[in-house]
Amino acid sequence: MKTQCASQMLRVGGMVPLTSLDYPGRLACVLFCQGCAWRCRYCHNPGLIVARGEHEKPWPEILEFLKRRQGLLEAVVFSGGEPTLQAALPAAIQQARELGFLIGLHSAGIRPQALGKVLPVVDWVGFDVKALSEDTQLITGVSGSGAANWRSLELLLASGVAYECRTTVHWHLIDCEKLWALAQRLRAAGVEYYVIQKVRTAVMWEQGMPEIPAPLHQQQLWQRLAELFPHFSLRGQ
Ligand code: SF4
Repeated sequence: MKTQCASQMLRVGGMVPLTSLDYPGRLACVLFCQGCAWRCRYCHNPGLIVARGEHEKPWPEILEFLKRRQGLLEAVVFSGGEPTLQAALPAAIQQARELGFLIGLHSAGIRPQALGKVLPVVDWVGFDVKALSEDTQLITGVSGSGAANWRSLELLLASGVAYECRTTVHWHLIDCEKLWALAQRLRAAGVEYYVIQKVRTAVMWEQGMPEIPAPLHQQQLWQRLAELFPHFSLRGQ
């Protein structure tokens, strides 16, 4: 392995050492990469949005941890924040691969070019689709975020890398009609694996966002989505 100076190392703001939920069918650890360029109103990891975290874990320590877990863990998932924004991500992925781990990536494809660069070296992607392209800024607060999110989705689908697309639902930010329109557009784009994640409201970037009760006919929508996609699931309460 090449040596890296500290400024070139991946900034990791947190870690889950063992999970069976974040990489399909594999025991994995999750590394929460520091920094994100978007400000999703429901973001449940606001401490990871800023470029430098208060509780960063030095990359060499993480590497040592991974070495101790060889043969015990099967995969390393780079999550965030938005991992692809860090220039150090490709090297970190390479180091984890050299230790024999499968590589998972959680991304919203904030920079399509950066996502495209790592797609050839990852094994599975959990990809956040925020909303219809034209509605994405309402969630992220960033102009152009919809175009980036959907361009990255195209790259992901064209790459042939295994994936899951997921959309977080906060009923203050999307309604059943919009969600159905989003699902139809995703299916038309070729998405086969789709997950709806119900928002976790305990901690959010925008504190005090109104909690809107779930629509009465949400069950019908879930049924329609299950019929629309070859693989559909619902996560959260
Ligand atoms: S939810 Fe939004 S703000 Fe939070 S890390 Fe993901 S893309 Fe960034």
